[in-house]
Amino acid sequence: VPERLLLVEDDDRIRAALRLGLEDEGYDISEAASAEAALAALEAERPGVLIVDLGLGGLMDGFDLIRAVRRTADLPIVIVSARTDTHDIVAGLEAGADDYVTKPFQIKEISARLRALRRRIVPVASAGDSLAGESPSTDLVLDSGLTPPLVLSTARGTVRRGEQDVHLTLTEYNLLCELAAVQGHVMSRQQLLERVWDQGFFGDERLVDVHVRRLRTKIERDPSDPRIVVTVRGLGYRLDPG
Ligand code: CA
Repeated sequence: VPERLLLVEDDDRIRAALRLGLEDEGYDISEAASAEAALAALEAERPGVLIVDLGLGGLMDGFDLIRAVRRTADLPIVIVSARTDTHDIVAGLEAGADDYVTKPFQIKEISARLRALRRRIVPVASAGDSLAGESPSTDLVLDSGLTPPLVLSTARGTVRRGEQDVHLTLTEYNLLCELAAVQGHVMSRQQLLERVWDQGFFGDERLVDVHVRRLRTKIERDPSDPRIVVTVRGLGYRLDPG
């Protein structure tokens, strides 16, 4: 079944070009020319992926749309932005987008970004896993000081406190899993870019920093004094569960 993709762009020509190209890449495309139309289409068509132009003509712009979507949905969002708008890109990521491409863009580039935004299956080692005869645990206690504790379950693909789900976006979840797979060891921004976004040397490290900040607001007791996802100055990030 082809993945349904909602394309939000107010420029008819760009939208048509995106549609043609992404249909060739195997997506089932829905279109919206405004944020308002996009919200209605999200409700009606339940797309699995969203592509959003930041400059939209209606009362809401792309930032408003992303924030509105993120209140209820975890689906991947990719921004399409004019090349010069570096401030806009960061603002769009902070609003909740997962990645971006700049205009003029190539369909192959967008397609590669979309492919990268899939749920990662990352084995998470817990203390004791290496003992012979024990089946590997898929649960990792992130914060045992809370009652109930905060637990990452890679079998369920969730972060939970008791029965309460902590809603992470796909990218936040993937980021957490990559750090969990090497818990206690630093991962550089470059490594995280490669593993979570499939981006190599020329990737944008701001992607990592913005998503770490967003992840912290959801899992840390005090996001301004993080204890779980720790910054290692000059090196990168480290997961300190416990
Ligand atoms: Ca536009």
